[in-house]
Amino acid sequence: ETKKETLGFQTEVKQLLHLMIHSLYSNKEIFLRELVSNASDAVDKLRFAALDKSELLSNDPDLKIRIEFDKEAKTIAVEDNGIGMTRQDMIDHLGTIANSGTAQFLESLTGDQKKDAHLIGQFGVGFYSAFIVADRVSVVSRHAGTEEATCWESAGEGDFTVEPAEKAGRGTKITLHLKSDCEEFADGFRLRNIIRKYSDHISLPIEMVKEATPTGDEEEEKKADDVVEYETVNTATALWTRPRNEITDDEYKEFYKHISHDFDEPQTWSHNKVEGKAEYTSLLYIPKRAPFDLWNRDVQRGLKLYVQRVFIMDDAEQFLPLYLRFVKGTVDSNDLPLNVSREILQNNPKIDSMRSALTKRVLDMLAKMAKKEPEQYAEFWKTFGQVLKEGPAEDYNNKEKIAKLLRFATTHTDNDEQNQSLEDYIGRMSEGQDKIYYVLGENYQTAKNSPHLEIFRKKGIEALVLYDRIDEWLIQQLMEFDGKKFVDVSKGDLDLGKLDSEEDKKAIEEASKEKADLIEKIKEVLKDKVEEVKLSHRLTDSPACLVLSEYDLGIQMRKVMEAAGQ
Ligand code: ADP
Ligand code: MG
Repeated sequence: ETKKETLGFQTEVKQLLHLMIHSLYSNKEIFLRELVSNASDAVDKLRFAALDKSELLSNDPDLKIRIEFDKEAKTIAVEDNGIGMTRQDMIDHLGTIANSGTAQFLESLTGDQKKDAHLIGQFGVGFYSAFIVADRVSVVSRHAGTEEATCWESAGEGDFTVEPAEKAGRGTKITLHLKSDCEEFADGFRLRNIIRKYSDHISLPIEMVKEATPTGDEEEEKKADDVVEYETVNTATALWTRPRNEITDDEYKEFYKHISHDFDEPQTWSHNKVEGKAEYTSLLYIPKRAPFDLWNRDVQRGLKLYVQRVFIMDDAEQFLPLYLRFVKGTVDSNDLPLNVSREILQNNPKIDSMRSALTKRVLDMLAKMAKKEPEQYAEFWKTFGQVLKEGPAEDYNNKEKIAKLLRFATTHTDNDEQNQSLEDYIGRMSEGQDKIYYVLGENYQTAKNSPHLEIFRKKGIEALVLYDRIDEWLIQQLMEFDGKKFVDVSKGDLDLGKLDSEEDKKAIEEASKEKADLIEKIKEVLKDKVEEVKLSHRLTDSPACLVLSEYDLGIQMRKVMEAAGQ
């Protein structure tokens, strides 16, 4: 028989709680959104578990969240009949293991109280936000399908306790003992407003005790006081099932925060209902900020999958390609079986066609943003451009679409900002130019100072300045854009095609004859080191430069191969 146990919070959690308790929080009310969001997640998990084990649901089938308050006792309680937590779950999730939001938040801390207090507002931190308004929090929970309940309690300082408790049904009840300066929250009107503001999109009913409407009849009012009646205070329909024109931007934004666990607003979104051969509804969001694990390919990612409004799984990664891994959202299918598993999702023609439709949606959404909101798109590019550059290799079919979304630094703008599209470049091409020239370098400075660019500068021909690690790989995948080949300025005989004037060509020929002796001598000296010595018009200021032959690997690819031990 386990008794009461006192355990310490993990160091990071302690740091976080300290900060939360001691720094001013301008937006205290968000604690309720966090607790409701967790309750809703818990109910989703229960619904899913009940697909296999219907008895989990049958004894208490009306899934809901209840919020109660007591003005005298200065408490608020949030209760759900979801999946619940075991003793070990509580120890793990409410004390020792920091969730991803917490880790990311702690990473961005500056040490400056004021700045950090502001940061916390951007991140939010889930369950622990209860301590913004409470100086004591108790959680009583019973995991579905078990008999034992556990009570977790803490004052949000160094430690917490867990001990056996009594609880009639499955689920979790969180009670907040409000701080003296937060008593205002123990109020029906205030709570209803907060729920409508942040949690209206939650698809299950959030109930509160019905406020007695005075009838004038004292007897009747007394009776009404004895029977507690509840009423639903939110809309309680899954947001994506509602018609687009009835959903406000604020509702879309709150829904995004709920599903993404991001505390910033999304950059943009696209909500679509598809009917016909396949029937599904998708709601896809482009975030503003990159998650800290964007570059970790092993991290779970993907859309939240529902089948006929029943939550099936988070992170269904089969619905979008890897290079769109920054997209968040939900997809609700009407024709997948309720018992779909990750295995079924793989190699399923139905999923494949949904995936290609959803991919197009995202690319179209980005194209629209690029056209209509170039400033927003520039921000997007700074955050996710590097990921999008993986696209042409992964998704050959959409190569052209992706190419239009790419942005580069060029000799035209003459700075390192990647803000020029290939269409911009083509629009500026000189008459007779039929290629897209680019220079590669390890960083912007090296690339832009390449001697190979001298002749381009002299002739006023623009070149893309590529300096990201992935760029050479990207160009190799693209090969051409709008029928124009990409040409590395450092490779092969620089054929400027019609851009070379007849005089230039003649001048080179003559000079080559004249300097034949000199060229021979240089060849003698460098004989093992170079393949060929040529007189060229590439350079205008530097006397000589090394040139790779057309079929050689580029400088960056060589480095990549070297690093791989080749
Ligand atoms: P997140 O919701 O981002 O996972 P939170 O800090 O909000 O992070 O919650 C931490 C974890 O605690 C949840 O992932 C869940 O495992 C557990 N939890 C919190 N509230 C509940 C609840 N009402 N029912 C069941 N589990 C819960
Ligand atoms: Mg949460």
